[in-house]
Order: sequence, then structure tokens, then C-alpha cells
Amino acid sequence: MLNRQIRATTAGDSARLEVETFTSNRGLALEEGLIFEIGRAEVTGVDLDEPAPFEPRLGGLERKDPIGLPGLSEPETLRHYVRLSQKNYSIDSGLYPLGSCTMKHNPRLNEAVARLPGFADIHPLQPQSTVPGALELIEDLAHWLMTLTGMDAVAMTPKAGAHGEVCGMMAIKAAIEAKGEGETRRIVLAPDSAHGTNPATAARLGFEVRSIPARADGTVDAAEVERLLGPDVAAIMLTNPNTCGLFEKEIVEIAAATRNAGAYFYCDGANFNAIMGKTRPGDLGVDAMHLNLHKTFSTPHGGGGPGAGPVVLSGRLAPFAPAPFLRRDENGLRLVERLDEAPYSLGRLAAFHGQMGMFVRAYAYMLSHGADGLRQAAEDAVLSANYIRASLNDLMSQPFGDRPCMHEVLFDDAWLKPTGLTTLDFAKAMIDEGYHPMTIYFPLVAHGAMLIEPTESESKASLDLFIATMRDLAMAARRGETERFLGAPVYAPRRRLDETRAARNPVLKWTRPPPQPV
Ligand SMILES: *Cc1c(COP(=O)(O)O)cnc(C)c1O
Repeated sequence: MLNRQIRATTAGDSARLEVETFTSNRGLALEEGLIFEIGRAEVTGVDLDEPAPFEPRLGGLERKDPIGLPGLSEPETLRHYVRLSQKNYSIDSGLYPLGSCTMKHNPRLNEAVARLPGFADIHPLQPQSTVPGALELIEDLAHWLMTLTGMDAVAMTPKAGAHGEVCGMMAIKAAIEAKGEGETRRIVLAPDSAHGTNPATAARLGFEVRSIPARADGTVDAAEVERLLGPDVAAIMLTNPNTCGLFEKEIVEIAAATRNAGAYFYCDGANFNAIMGKTRPGDLGVDAMHLNLHKTFSTPHGGGGPGAGPVVLSGRLAPFAPAPFLRRDENGLRLVERLDEAPYSLGRLAAFHGQMGMFVRAYAYMLSHGADGLRQAAEDAVLSANYIRASLNDLMSQPFGDRPCMHEVLFDDAWLKPTGLTTLDFAKAMIDEGYHPMTIYFPLVAHGAMLIEPTESESKASLDLFIATMRDLAMAARRGETERFLGAPVYAPRRRLDETRAARNPVLKWTRPPPQPV
């Protein structure tokens, strides 16, 4: 910092100045240390009286040393968290084209409704008789989820898509065991293009995962599935539209073959945004499918925070749904908590019945859109992705040929080969342009994959600027202006991090650095 440095790099025709500032701030983007680094244990933002003398009743277990928490004044605390929040790129900051994640706008109407005291201030341990409205909302949401998917039941407990997969696959396992086939049906089929959570879920539940190779056109071949099916197969896990952004055309044949072989069909519903209001998975022969409310139904993605991934189930699997679940009888709605009322239930997956805040937001989204609005959201999501595809495919290569996609468009790195640049270099240069990169290197079936999902919530102007930026970058890459990519990101607060080391050797605990010799 004291050694100020000015370095000029020439990238094509635009000379760039990179200045290292005294403060490490860049313009108005301020550096921020960890709270442990900036806080001081002897400082606090509150002024409490010393406690009156008292007799400890902890039997000598009370803490003797100072707890050492970092203290900050109120303005310091406020600035710390505001600066941190400004480092967080979000859908409220700009276009967020992360494929397979459906980073759509979170309507503020949802937030207003979720903050109504009747929803926000209730507690899961309150007697059920005091929250009939909340139970009714959950029942209504469940009704519309079943209606949209054409399925017979829905488990509302799961906290995320991956948790929904576990729930659905546990229901399948319970169904197989109820038929006395638990020992023989040990295999789960999943295509090469599957999201990592699919094989991870199957393996976690003790199944052996066998992969279905992708066809040259990026979809699954029903004949190939039929060849792999047998009395040892428990289930197939398939995403539709798949992670290449393509609709699995033979899904009905695949479902029928799976059922005929005595196995179950788990559909990964993360991409439901592409088909909502157009196609019902129940009509396609699906047995279980999770819905990521934070993808299709516009609830915030959170940082691994409160999420919801309800799982819709076919009649074949409904008896195995987890407890608790809602039942309406002569006394009205109630949660069935006791397993003697649900003898086939797979049991309890979590302490409470789902995430109320997410349910309210998703329900508000459905009601404010209506059936026509939900269908239009799916249509516009597909239209936006195809607009990007058609606007970039003269410069960038598509792994499975030039044909329409669903809600996300997949490019590979074949077009980058002659430039010597990688998908990672291209993605890093997008950060300098103010764009969060698309999903890269997933799905694994495309070499150097770039998966772009704009969603329906971007305006045409926003898509046009994104396309123009991508074209500018692509042409620079083709012209051999490698400096613009290899050094990127130049304008981000941090440059290239060692992501592999961070993942392999995560340092999650701050330790006080040793005192520096004077
Ligand atoms: C997002 C996603 C998942 C996992 O969902 P989470 O809610 O993140 O746990 C599973 N499969 C696919 C295809 C996804 O895109």
C-alpha cells in the first residue's frame, strides 16, 4: 500500500491504468477487513451497568476469562455490514445469468406479504389451533404445486432442492422395501449431464449409481435406458429440461420403460421454470420431483439460508411421504405428526413443517401471476434464452448443434481453442464488464461449458446490452487480445483466487496472527 504502483497495460486499442491506492479502496468501492481484525474486545456499542453482585449457580463451570468477542461502536458496526453487503453481487444489482440456477427477480410484493405479522410473527411450536390461516396457506400452496405438476401428493418439509432429492429418493427406497425388493434393487441410473446432487443423493442412500451416456444430440436415448433397466434397478434420476437446456423428447417412453421394469422415475425439477404451465410432469409419468421455490417461484436464493424444496409425488409414492403432513377432516386442517396415523411414512425429515416465509412468498408469486402469468413466465424465459442463443451463435460454439433451447443456452469452448484462452479466462473478463459470469464447466458433458440462463425477468434492453458485451468480448478473444482475458478481473476487489485450494483446504476459522516483531 505504501509502495504506490502505477502499471499500464495495453489491451488492444484501449490503454488501461491500474492504480494501487494507499487505502486499497478502489474509487468508492471500499476495502473491508474481518470483524475480528477491525473490532477490539475492550470496545462495545452498548453501555450497560455493571451487574449487581450475585452468586453464580453454575457449579464452578462459569467462564473465567474474557470472551474476547470483537466490539465495535454502532457507526462502525453499521459501516462494516453495509460495506460487506455491497460486495455481494445480487439479482438486485444486475443481470445474473447463472445457468441451472434461475436467478429471477424476487418481487417486492412477496416481501410485503411475508412481513404481515400473521405470517412473520408465528412460531412453529405454537398450538396448531392458533395458526389455522398459516395451515390453510400451506394447503393452498400444496394444491397449486400439485395442480401445476399434475401429481397426487406433495411433501412440504424439504429445505432445498438437494434435500427434496433426498426426500423423494427416500420415498422410493421405502416403496421398494415395502415390496420386499430392498435387497435386490440397488442401482440408480443417472445421465452424464446430471447435476452433482443427483448421484450424491443416490450414493448417500446406499444406492450404486450407474451413468447413462448422453446421445450426440445431448439427450437421453430411451432404448439405452431400456438396455440398462433390470430387476436390480431401483430408480432413474432425470432432469427435464436437462442441464444442457434441452427437452428430453423421449421422456414418456423412458417413464414407461422404467415403470414396466418395476423401478421409479425421479425427475429433477430444478428446471421447472421452462415448462411451468405448459407441461405437467405427472402426465409424463414422473413418480417424484422436487420444486426449488427459490428458482421457479421467485423466493430469494439466500446464502444457503432458509430455502424450500417441496417434492411432488405420484399416487404410487404418496403413502411413503414424510411426516408431518396436512390432513383435512371434520375438525378442519391439522398436521399429522404421529407415525401410527401414517404407517408407511418414511418418517420425519426435519424438526418442523417447511419454511413458512418461503411458502408465503411462493404463494404470493403464484397468486399475483395467475395461471396465464405463470405460463408466460415460462414462455418468456425460453424466449430470452433463445434470443441470446441466436445473437451469439455466429461467434460462440454450441456443443449439440445449432437448434432451439429451452430456458438456458449451452455453449462450449471449441470456438476458444484457436485463441489459447479458456472458459475461465472468458468468465473472468465478464467480471470487469460488470457481469456475474454464467455457470462454467457444468454440465460436464460439454467441454469448457458456458451455461447462460437469463430468465424472464430481464428486459430486452438488458438482454441487448449483455449480448453486445458478450460479442465485444468474443471478438476481442478472436482478434487475439489475450491481455484483456489473462489478467482479468482487473477491476474486482480481488483478482484470481486459488479456488481449488480454497475448496480443498477451507480455512473457516480466524486465528489471531502472531505478534509482529517491532
Ligand atoms: C439447483 C439444482 C439442484 C439443487 O437444488 P438446491 O436447491 O440448490 O439444493 C439440483 N439439480 C439441478 C439441476 C439444479 O439446478
